[in-house]
Order: sequence, then structure tokens, then C-alpha cells
Amino acid sequence: MVSYSPLFSSSPARWKQLVLSKRITIASVLLLFSLLALSEVFLERGISTRILSSLSFNAKSSDQSPLSCSNPFDPSSFPHHTPRPTYTRKANATFLTLARNSDLAGVIHSMKQVEGRFNRDRHYPWVFLNDEPFTEEFIRCTSAVTSAKTHYGQIPREQWVQPDFIDEEKATKARKALSKMRGVFYAESVSYRNMCRFYSGFFYKQPLLQDFKYYWRVEPDINYRCEIEYDPFLYMEDNDKAYGFTISVPEQKETTPTLWDTSMEFFNQNPQYLHPNNAMRFASKDGGMTWTRCTYWTNFEIGDLDFFRGSEGYTKYFEHLEAAGGFYYERWGDAPMHGIAISLLLDRDRIHHFDDIAYEHTGWEQCPNPVSPAYERGRCDCDYGNSMDVKWKRSA
Ligand code: GDP
Ligand code: MN
Repeated sequence: MVSYSPLFSSSPARWKQLVLSKRITIASVLLLFSLLALSEVFLERGISTRILSSLSFNAKSSDQSPLSCSNPFDPSSFPHHTPRPTYTRKANATFLTLARNSDLAGVIHSMKQVEGRFNRDRHYPWVFLNDEPFTEEFIRCTSAVTSAKTHYGQIPREQWVQPDFIDEEKATKARKALSKMRGVFYAESVSYRNMCRFYSGFFYKQPLLQDFKYYWRVEPDINYRCEIEYDPFLYMEDNDKAYGFTISVPEQKETTPTLWDTSMEFFNQNPQYLHPNNAMRFASKDGGMTWTRCTYWTNFEIGDLDFFRGSEGYTKYFEHLEAAGGFYYERWGDAPMHGIAISLLLDRDRIHHFDDIAYEHTGWEQCPNPVSPAYERGRCDCDYGNSMDVKWKRSA
């Protein structure tokens, strides 16, 4: 007679059940591990922080008093040097944020960075733009983060959606083809294309910006890792700068196969728009034959709206690109478009690299060299080794 331990004394059906439940347990453990591993990957890319922050915001917002509104901004989390710089004047300037209502948590994060590092004693206003009406919650929460004025605008439909002359069949095919290429973000997104086209051709035409001279673009989920110990708007004004950037990145080939040739077509037909003291060498090392693909990373930019509004060349150049359809048939970004326009239309002495501003977005950052006065002055908490200029040099 075979004796069974109690564990194995059950009927074949019970046995099957046991094996099954074991399999389920093993499967659950594996699933848990995969989830953990995945979250590691996301964490690496900074994505989970975004997901987590929006989740925690949603959780809070369901109980009527979201933390971000009821406890909008804690200045003590951004301890300043004393004394702060004293200013005797202000520029005519505003922050500019394009966002969806669903970007609220990320927008609040960015506003706290900007307010904490700079604006809480400067009180420059904020302009928010959206292709849809902002919710009451978005307005209430964002206006609670700043002591400055906030303005909210809706973008006219024709400046946002894909224009009628675009052949949708051709555009769909192009999006599908792009999605098959490796490493191309937003390959299939139409709304991303709308955003890029808007920032290329229409942002400076918004009525809410008409009374301002300078804008400083702020995106959701950005970080400033040093105190900003001077007023960049006043720097622009005092030094007659028209465009300021922090990070320069190369644009991908896949998203812009014909952008350079289309641009050169325009500038060959309209050479009068090329500035005699332009920065062509930033865009092309061989006098325009080929493109360096260098762009200014436009999620940070400080610009002179009078340049955009007053430049016939800029408007005409955009119209030329628009007619070619590449915002939808390819995926032309506002960064390469601004990069080419700024480099060719502007006096290069009016372009400024804010190399002392520590800026980070989606894991890419600029951090001042620790031996520079900016690092000490700004009490930076960034790692110079992660700075894009150091990384580019390392990979060169
Ligand atoms: P990335 O930085 O290139 O990954 O692009 P983002 O997703 O951050 O978009 C760039 C900017 O445009 C951010 O300020 C977004 O909030 C905004 N944005 C992107 N898509 C839309 C959209 O469909 N509607 C609105 N209103 N804003 C958008
Ligand atoms: Mn972004």
C-alpha cells in the first residue's frame, strides 16, 4: 500500500486544482516581476514619474481639494540665497504654456519650478493656450500656483487641425510608414503634428500675446536645477537678443527627409530674406548643400515676439513649408523649423545660448560646469556629467 502525505492525499481533481493554483501563483509572481522590471525601464526614462504624478494628482482631485490647489506652492522648498538680486524694472514679457487639460499635473510641476527658481519675486504673467476650452479645474489650480496674472486662450480651429488641402490618404500612408521605423516618437500622432505646426506658424499670432514683447516657453514636466539669479528677459532686452536657447539637438532623418531641400527652395527663390550676418554655419557647413540637422530644443525658448511678428521672411517661409505639406506628410517639428528660420533670418549676434541656466526635460538636461560662477551662484543640484554638451563631446 502506498502511503501519501496529506498534501498528496487528494483526488485527481483536487490534484489538478492544486497544480493549477500553483501555476497561477507562479504566473502572478512572474507578472509582478515583469511589472517591476517595466517600471524600472519607465523610471529610467522618467515616464513613470509622469504617470505617478498624474495618478497622484487624479487621486487627490477626486476628493474635491487637490493638493496642488489647496497647497499650491511652498517657497521653502526653493531656499534662495540672500540677498536676492534687486531689480529696478521689468521687461514686457510672459511665460507661455501650451497644454491639454490632462497635462495639469505636469503644468503645475513646471510652474512650481519656474516660480521657485525665478518668478516668485518677479511676477511675470502666464499665458496658457489650448486647442480646447480649459476646464475650471485647470484654471483654478494653475492660477493658485502663481501670484502673477494668468491668461487662458483657445487656439482657433484652423490654426490647429490638419488643413483641408492635405491628402489624408497620403498622410495616413506616411504615418504608417514612419511608425515602422525604429526610434521615431509620435510617428502616428496627428495631434503631435498639429502641435508642431502650431508652434511653427501660429503661436506668435495669438491675441493674448499681442501686448507682450518677450515669451518664455514652458512645457509640462520640466525642471530648473539652479536658481536663476538674474532676469533672462532683461538680459534679452539689454543685449538686443531675439532668440535664446539652452540645449541644441540634432533632428532625426526619418521625420524630416525633405525639410532642408524644401527650405533651400524657399531661400533660393527669396534670397532677400537671408540675413547678411546669419548663422548659416549652425544649419549647414557647406553653404546650404547639406543640413547639419542641428536645432534648438524648442521646449525651452525665450524669444522676441516682435521678431516673429515683424519678419515677413518668417511668415513667408512658414507658408512655403505649409504648402509643401511636410508637417503632415512627414513629421516636421517646430524645433527644426525654428532652427532653420532663426539661423538664416536673424542676425546671429541676436541669438543667445543661455549656458548658465540649468534646464531638464524628459531626461535631457543642461547643467553649468561646476567650475563656472553660475554653478556656485545658482546653488545647482544637477550633475554636469549628465549635461548634453558633455554627452555630445563624449560621443564625438
Ligand atoms: P515632447 O516634449 O516632444 O514629448 O512633446 P509634448 O507632448 O511635451 O508636447 C509639447 C507641448 O505641446 C507640451 O506643452 C504639450 O502640453 C503640448 N501639446 C502636445 N499635444 C497637444 C495637444 O494635442 N493639445 C494641446 N492643447 N497641447 C498639446
Ligand atoms: Mn515635452
